[in-house]
Amino acid sequence: MINMMIGFFKDFFKYKQSAKKQQEWLEKYAKQKNYALNPSWMMLTNLKSNLCEMEATFGKRYCPCFEPSADEKLNKKMMCPCKFIDDEIAEYGTCHCALFGPADLSKEDWKASSKRLMAEYQVPKNLKEGVLDTRGMPLDPRRALPIPDMMHQVKSTLNGYKGETLTVIVEYEQEVKNLEKIAKYRGLKLNSVDKDGSFEVVLDFRK
Ligand code: SF4
Repeated sequence: MINMMIGFFKDFFKYKQSAKKQQEWLEKYAKQKNYALNPSWMMLTNLKSNLCEMEATFGKRYCPCFEPSADEKLNKKMMCPCKFIDDEIAEYGTCHCALFGPADLSKEDWKASSKRLMAEYQVPKNLKEGVLDTRGMPLDPRRALPIPDMMHQVKSTLNGYKGETLTVIVEYEQEVKNLEKIAKYRGLKLNSVDKDGSFEVVLDFRK
């Protein structure tokens, strides 16, 4: 929990300026659609930081909850605000990430949807002796992408991580490409090996 809070505030200060630009379009879009933004300052701040990070890492404003896939058509649909927003509001009360919801959504319903989202990311990680196996997570029914995805698993592992290297096992080549972009953005060295149907990527934190 403490590491999560440290990560939250690090991102808050890092993206403080660019988050203001996110706020502008978020408000404009919400007004057009008669939606509201998540009323929780922490949730909204975290989502805005994640949107900034997606843009900085991958060059596009992808959904803060899903790293890009190998399917370009799906990636286009995942640009925020995504193509799934209305369907998900109908199902969950808010969009998947609990960023947008109807203007008249009650506080309790916002809380319930935020809780649903947090639960998706609080599954135990498969981390042992510096090796994080990111495979086998449940799939989101609309996008057929894992929740939590590799990127979120790595990010939460790195909060407070003390090792000199982290070996990340991923299933898809696209995840290796994504890790390369993440490592480049964070200034980390990376080495990847193809291992019979999966990939082992070593992130090296030594300077
Ligand atoms: S689920 Fe919400 S936050 Fe994610 S892309 Fe869609 S609208 Fe944006």
